[in-house]
Amino acid sequence: MSTTHGSIIFGYDVESASEATKGFLQGAQQLHQKHNVPWTIYVTGQTLSARAEDIREVMDEPLLSIGQHTFNHVLLKSIYMRPDDGKPIHGNSPNFFHQGGTLEQIQQEIHSTQNLIIDLLKIECQGLTGPWGYYRGLVDRPDILQILSDNGIKWIRTNARDYRDCQPTPFSEQPFFYTDQGFSEILELGVQGYQDDFYWDRFDDRRFGDSYQDYLFAMLEKVADGNLVWNVCSHDHGTVDVETFFQTKGAWIEELIIRAKDLGIRFISPPNLYTEMATV
Ligand SMILES: [Zn+2]
Repeated sequence: MSTTHGSIIFGYDVESASEATKGFLQGAQQLHQKHNVPWTIYVTGQTLSARAEDIREVMDEPLLSIGQHTFNHVLLKSIYMRPDDGKPIHGNSPNFFHQGGTLEQIQQEIHSTQNLIIDLLKIECQGLTGPWGYYRGLVDRPDILQILSDNGIKWIRTNARDYRDCQPTPFSEQPFFYTDQGFSEILELGVQGYQDDFYWDRFDDRRFGDSYQDYLFAMLEKVADGNLVWNVCSHDHGTVDVETFFQTKGAWIEELIIRAKDLGIRFISPPNLYTEMATV
């Protein structure tokens, strides 16, 4: 019997290739060190090329895991968002289509980023977040899983949308190995809930209250009660300095950490969850 009451992973897309990258990384490091909570970043090749020094400044610590997010943020699968809620999505249209990369592009995107991480950060990367996230992750795409496997990727976040290709991803979507597809060494972590505050703003029905905080706290209860895993996501968007980080993303992340601790929820890194699930 487990004595834990749910698990939280923090994973951040680092993709803006701007001052916001530095502000986010510095702020997130301070926050996660203060509370002794592990965190993960998923960097695009573009951002690593432009902001390598910002990443090097925060990477030398045991709380941080580093994954990749493709080179140019190319989608691994096409998405077709059809919210059917009477509100436009990404512009003025009721629907939104974004085409995924070809297999050749995907191989190039992932392989070049693996090499760049070795060159600039001197580490081997085993994690990946698929840009935009997809309904059902890669359960229907063994061809893409093969590319990930060929590039040494072991833990991924691609299961990050609902059946409308929108959000939130239901919490019934829990981490699993792609054993049925023939890739038992690849762990899907998913992104449960919303991929960030701005997606809550667009999609949430306000059932749990008027703020993202209300939603987050309600989900914490769910995670603790059901002993679930929650992979919480955010992005280096708009966090131009540390002060801005703590006024925006950092504010709700910190409140989430404090409340999670009160509820007895633990924090874990993707590599540690991988080891734990692989040895059960
Ligand atoms: Zn992204």
